[in-house]
Amino acid sequence: MSRRIIPVADFSAAPVIAGPVQTPTGVLHDTLARPLRDLRISVTDRCNFRCVYCMPRAVFDKDYTFLPHSALLSFEEIERLARLFVAHGVEKIRLTGGEPLLRKNLEFLIERLARLTTSDGRPLDLTLTTNGSLLERKARNLKDAGLTRVTVSLDALDDALFRRMNDADFAVADVLDGIAAAQAVGLAPVKVNMVVKRGTNDREIVPMASHFKGSGAVLRFIEYMDVGSSNGWNMTEVLPSADVVSRIAEHFPLAPLDAHTAAETAQRWGYVDGSGEIGVISSVTRAFCGSCTRARLSTEGKLYLCLFASAGHDLRALLRSGASDAGIATAVAEIWQGRGDRYSQLRGSNAAETRVLDSQRVEMSYIGG
Ligand code: SAM
Ligand code: SF4
Ligand code: SF4
Repeated sequence: MSRRIIPVADFSAAPVIAGPVQTPTGVLHDTLARPLRDLRISVTDRCNFRCVYCMPRAVFDKDYTFLPHSALLSFEEIERLARLFVAHGVEKIRLTGGEPLLRKNLEFLIERLARLTTSDGRPLDLTLTTNGSLLERKARNLKDAGLTRVTVSLDALDDALFRRMNDADFAVADVLDGIAAAQAVGLAPVKVNMVVKRGTNDREIVPMASHFKGSGAVLRFIEYMDVGSSNGWNMTEVLPSADVVSRIAEHFPLAPLDAHTAAETAQRWGYVDGSGEIGVISSVTRAFCGSCTRARLSTEGKLYLCLFASAGHDLRALLRSGASDAGIATAVAEIWQGRGDRYSQLRGSNAAETRVLDSQRVEMSYIGG
C-alpha cells in the first residue's frame, strides 16, 4: 500500500530550557505585550467530514496517514499541561480538532479539565468546537462532565449545498438537531460558525441569519482564511465581513455592539428589533493579532503560537522525558515570552516572515481552529 507523508510542516523541536526556573504568577506576556489567556487543544486530527476548505478529500483520502494512538497526548498529559498553562494565566480552554467528538471518552477529559480553576480561583471557561454531527447524542454527557458552552460549525441551510461542502454526505438536519440538544441541556449560549466562501455559500448568509435570529444561538460569520496549504486558498473567494453585515442589514437592521472583552475576535452586531445578535470574524480584512492571546496545542503535544505557524514546540517530548512541572512551566514561559507572531497583520505585505510561512503552514485540522 502506498503511504502518503503527512502534509503537515513539522520543524518542531523539544524546547531547551535556557534560563532560571520561572514559577507561574498568573501573568505572562509575549514580545508584543500580549498576555497568555486562551488555550486551544486539538484532541484528534481525524474528522468524519471532508470540508472542502479544511480537509479536502483529494489530500485527506484513504491513503492519508493520520497519527497513531500512541502519538496522541493522553488525557493525563493534556490535564497536566492544561494545569500549567492555567497557572500562567489561561482562563479559557477550547477543545477542537479534527472533530473533537470523535475522541473516545472525551467526557473523561472534560471532567478533569472542569476541576481546574484560574489563578484567582474562578472556574475556567471550558468550551468545544464541533461540526455538530454527533452532538445530539453527546450533549447531555458533555454538559454533565462540566463543559460550559459549545460552538457548532454550519456553513449552509441548503441541504444539497451543505452536503457538497462537507463532502461526506452529512445532512443539515443532523447539525440542527445537535444545536437543539446543546440548547436543551444548557450548553448555552450556543455559537454557530459559518465560514463564508464567495461564490460557494454566500447566498446562504441571509437565510442563515433569518433562521438563527431570535433562536438564542449567536451566528458568527468567518472570513475564509489561507490556513494550511491544502485548500488552494484564493483572495477572490474571501467575502469581506463588511459585505456580510450590509447584506444582512438590508433585511434586518443592525447596530454595532461593544465587545465583551478586549481579546474578543468577533465584532458584534445587534438586531435593532432586539431579537439577538450576530458576530463577524474578519481574520483576513481586519487582523486582530494585536489582541491575540491564544496558544494552540496540537494533537501530538506541539505548542503553536499562531494559526499560521510552521513550527511547533514539542511539549510531548518534554513530558515524556520526565521533566518536572517546574521545568515544563519554565519552558512554556520562555516560549510565550519569545512570541512575536502576527501573521494576519503582515499578510499581503510581502514581509519575509509570511513568504517563508506560505509553503510550510500546518493544517487547521492538525492544530484546530
Ligand atoms: N471539526 C470542528 C468544526 O468543524 O467545528 C472543529 C475543528 S475546525 C478546524 C474549527 C473551525 O475552523 C470550524 O468552525 C471551521 O469552519 C473553521 N475553519 C476550517 N478551515 C477554515 C478556513 N480555511 N477558513 C476559516 N475557517 C476555517
Ligand atoms: Fe472536519 Fe471541522 Fe475541518 Fe470540517 S472544518 S473538515 S468538520 S475539522
Ligand atoms: Fe493570532 Fe496568528 Fe491569527 Fe494573528 S494570525 S490573530 S497572531 S493566530
